[in-house]
Amino acid sequence: MGKIIAIVNQKGGVGKTTTAVNVASYVAFLGKKVLLVDMDPQANATAGLGINHKDLSQGIYEALISECGLPAIIIGEEHERFHLAPSSPSLAGAHIDLVSMDRREFRLFDLLASIQNKYDYILIDCPPSLGLLTINCLVGASELIIPVQAEYYALEGLSSLLETIALIQTNLKQELSILGVVITMYDKRIALSDVVLRELYQYFPGKIFKSVIPRNVRLAEAPSYGVPILNYDAGSKGAKAYERLAREILDIHKSL
Ligand code: ATP
Ligand code: MG
Repeated sequence: MGKIIAIVNQKGGVGKTTTAVNVASYVAFLGKKVLLVDMDPQANATAGLGINHKDLSQGIYEALISECGLPAIIIGEEHERFHLAPSSPSLAGAHIDLVSMDRREFRLFDLLASIQNKYDYILIDCPPSLGLLTINCLVGASELIIPVQAEYYALEGLSSLLETIALIQTNLKQELSILGVVITMYDKRIALSDVVLRELYQYFPGKIFKSVIPRNVRLAEAPSYGVPILNYDAGSKGAKAYERLAREILDIHKSL
């Protein structure tokens, strides 16, 4: 059964999508069969992989609110190791459609259950909110990666994220756990105050990934070419950092 990992932080612009796209592509590069699910109406992961949602007749929105199923929307050939469940702006309406639906918090969970045995890894790129879409991501996943941007306000909002995770664990999905926290956009010229780092270690004892993602312009450029960093500049510092992170994740799972 594939591992299902959501990349979550309701704070905007912390590197969720960059982490989701690049970890997914490196995990596939390292031999695993991977599905990336774009659960953000901004559809940044979809666009960043060179897919224009306007060319698609359906995406994750239709899968969530109709009975078409995930296989109908997944992009990628059978023999390829990296598949995408694309998003589109119409997903923004999903929280309204979902409210009146049966098992509204479990729609993504149910979709993923039907294809989980086809993949080694399913990664979910979450939107920057704690609404019903994100609840679906948290319930659908069994593990979480929390990207935290290396900046002074890094800890802002983390307590409400942790509260939401705890609520989900109590009420909807007991077996949800935090795989790790990844520090993103790290710039050694801008010293993260010791206080902030110490607090981060207090929040997440033993859960901070050793692989730190540096601020690297190549990571920001790759999406405009519609490819992961691996296919844009594999020699860049950003690429090496995401490859290390992907290996670290595989190692954690190997040792469990
Ligand atoms: P949102 O909350 O809007 O979904 P996000 O958390 O998914 O945002 P990203 O889209 O991954 O964040 O990143 C925000 C911006 O920062 C993007 O323009 C991205 O290209 C850029 N970026 C992300 N990581 C890095 C990095 N390590 N170095 C330089 N730029 C980065
Ligand atoms: Mg994003």
